[in-house]
Amino acid sequence: MCGIFGCVGSSDCVGEVFNGLSFLEYRGYDSSGIAALSSDSIHLVKKKGRVAALRSALFSSSLSGSPSIGHTRWATHGAPDDSNAHPFLSDDSSFALVHNGVIENYLELKKFLSSYGFSFSSETDSEVIVNLIQYFYNGDTLLALSETVKRLKGSFALAVISSYDKDKIFFAKKDNPLVLGLNNGVGYVCSDYPGLSSRVDKCVALDDGTLGFISPYDIALFDFSLSPLQPVFTHVIKDDNLSIGHYEHFMRKEIDEIPEAVSRALNSYYMSFPASVFDGINRIVFIGCGTALHAGLVAKRLLRELSPSLDCYAESSGEFVFSDFPVNGTLFVPVSQSGETADTLSAVKKIKSSGGKILAVCNVPSSSIVRESDNVILTSAGTEIAVASTKAYNCQLAVLTAFCLDAAKYFSSDENIPFIDSALCELLAIPSKLKVVISCENLVSLLAEKYSSAQSVFYLGRGLDFCVACEGSLKLKEISYVHSEAYPAGELKHGTLALIENGVLVIAVITQRLLLDKMITCLAEVKSRGAKIIAVSPFSDDKLSALSDHIVAIPAVCDILTPIVSVVPTQLFAYFSALYRGCDIDKPRNLAKSVTVE
Ligand code: GLU
Repeated sequence: MCGIFGCVGSSDCVGEVFNGLSFLEYRGYDSSGIAALSSDSIHLVKKKGRVAALRSALFSSSLSGSPSIGHTRWATHGAPDDSNAHPFLSDDSSFALVHNGVIENYLELKKFLSSYGFSFSSETDSEVIVNLIQYFYNGDTLLALSETVKRLKGSFALAVISSYDKDKIFFAKKDNPLVLGLNNGVGYVCSDYPGLSSRVDKCVALDDGTLGFISPYDIALFDFSLSPLQPVFTHVIKDDNLSIGHYEHFMRKEIDEIPEAVSRALNSYYMSFPASVFDGINRIVFIGCGTALHAGLVAKRLLRELSPSLDCYAESSGEFVFSDFPVNGTLFVPVSQSGETADTLSAVKKIKSSGGKILAVCNVPSSSIVRESDNVILTSAGTEIAVASTKAYNCQLAVLTAFCLDAAKYFSSDENIPFIDSALCELLAIPSKLKVVISCENLVSLLAEKYSSAQSVFYLGRGLDFCVACEGSLKLKEISYVHSEAYPAGELKHGTLALIENGVLVIAVITQRLLLDKMITCLAEVKSRGAKIIAVSPFSDDKLSALSDHIVAIPAVCDILTPIVSVVPTQLFAYFSALYRGCDIDKPRNLAKSVTVE
C-alpha cells in the first residue's frame, strides 16, 4: 500500500507532488508528507491524517524546491502519527526518503546504525534505509543506494533525494511497485500508472532488483550491482473518467459504471482470449485475496458444474504460498484488481519459479502480476478509486464466466455445446440486466436505513449464491464496520444458528431454482428464531414471500450467470448502510486500495 510521488524539473514540484498524493490517497491515508530540495538543503512537511491535512501545513511552511518527493502512508510499523509519517531525513539531513513496503531486518540494522551514533525519530522500519544511505555515502549517492539495498531484507519501493545531487530523484524497487515518466523536462516517480496517466504518455514500470535515478530529461537504470540496464517505455492507457462527477462517493459512481464496464470487459475478453491456454491442462487453480478470491470461488464452482472432468480449486493467495500444487497439467489463474496485491504476486512468483503456467485476470495493464504472467485477461473495468471494489469485481466475474464457458466447450462432450452457446449469448446480454438491477437502489436504500442499527448481519446462500453471500458480507464489513458473516445455508444449523435471535438481520441470496426449496427450509429455521429476512431473488414464490420480510427482486438470468447480477443489491446495501452510519465510504478505516504488503 502507500502512495509515492516524486517530481523533478518542474517550477512547482511541491504542487505536483501534492496533487499526485491527492490522487494516490486510495493507496493509504494514515499520514502524508513532502520533502523538497531548495538552496542545497532539504526541508519537509508531514502530517498525520488525510492529504487534505497537509495542505494548510504546506501553505504555512511555503515548502518549495526541485526535486520533491511525497508519501501517503498505510502504516505497518509504528502508529499513524506525525513522527512516523514519511518522508524521513537522514541523521545529518543530507538525504530524504519515502518507502513503500516492509523491511524485515530493520531492528538489526537499527542496532548496527545506533552503534555508529545514528539516532532515530520514528518507530518505522523505513527510517533505517535513509540512515544506511548516509552511512554508505562517500561522494556517490548511487553507490550508497546500491550498498544499502543489498543489505535490506523485505520489500521496498523507494524514492530518495539528496542535498549533494541537485536534479535527481534516486529510486530502488523490490516487490513493491514503482513507475517512472518523463514529460518535457519534468521527471516523475509514482507508485502506479493511473497516478501518472494525466502527466505522461509513456511510462517505465520498474522490474524487481532495479535502482537508478531520474532527472528532468533522463532515466538511468541499473541492477543492484550497478550494471546498466535499458529502460523500457510502455504506452500509458489514459482514463478520462477519473473525476467524481455529480456523485457523493466514488463507490456509488463505480456501481453505476458496472453495466458499461462489464460490456467492455467482455469485449476485451473476446478480442484477446488465448484459447491455447487449455492445451495440456487437467487442473485449474484460481488464486486471489478478498473480493478477487470470491471471484475465484465463483469460477471454481462454475467449472465444477460445467467441466466435471477438470480438477478445480480456489485458494487464498496468502495460503497458497504455503501449499504445494502439482505444476504439470495445471493452469494457475491469479485474480487481482490492481495487479500489485502482494500475496498474489508472491504466489505468482512461486508458480513462475517452478515453471507453472499462469493466466492472470487483472484490471491494470503492465502491473507487476501482468508482467510476471504468461497470459492475461484484462478486466478493463477502468480505474477503480473507491477502496471497496465493485465494478472491477463484476468484470472479474464476467470474464471468468466467459473463461469457464470456453473451458467447458474445450473439455466437454458435444451434447453440452448448445447449452454453453446459449449461456454465452446470454452472457453478452448481461449488461442490460445489470442496468435493470441497479434500479433496486431506492428499495435497498430504504432497507439499509431501516436496519442501520443492526449489530450483526448474516448472509446466506447455497452453491453459487454462497459465493455471492461471501462478497456481500465482506463489502458490508469493509465499509460500514458492521459485524457480518456469510454461511452456506445448510451449515447454519451446525453451530451458528445459536446466534440467531429476535431482530437479527439475515440476507438470503436465492437465485438457483434447484435450491429454492432447501433455501426456504433454512429461512423457516431462522424466521422461527426471530430473524428479519431480506431475500435477493428473481423468483416470485408464495413460500418465499411469506417467510421474507422484504424481497429485492432481481432480473432472471440463467443460473450460471446469476452471481454477476445478484451481487449488485448487496453492493448497494453495503453502500447505503455505510452512508446511514456516517462512515467514510471511499476510504474505510485501516484499509487501502492496493494491498502491496504481505
Ligand atoms: N513500513 C512503512 C511504514 O510503516 C511503509 C508502509 C507503507 O508502505 O506505507 O511506515
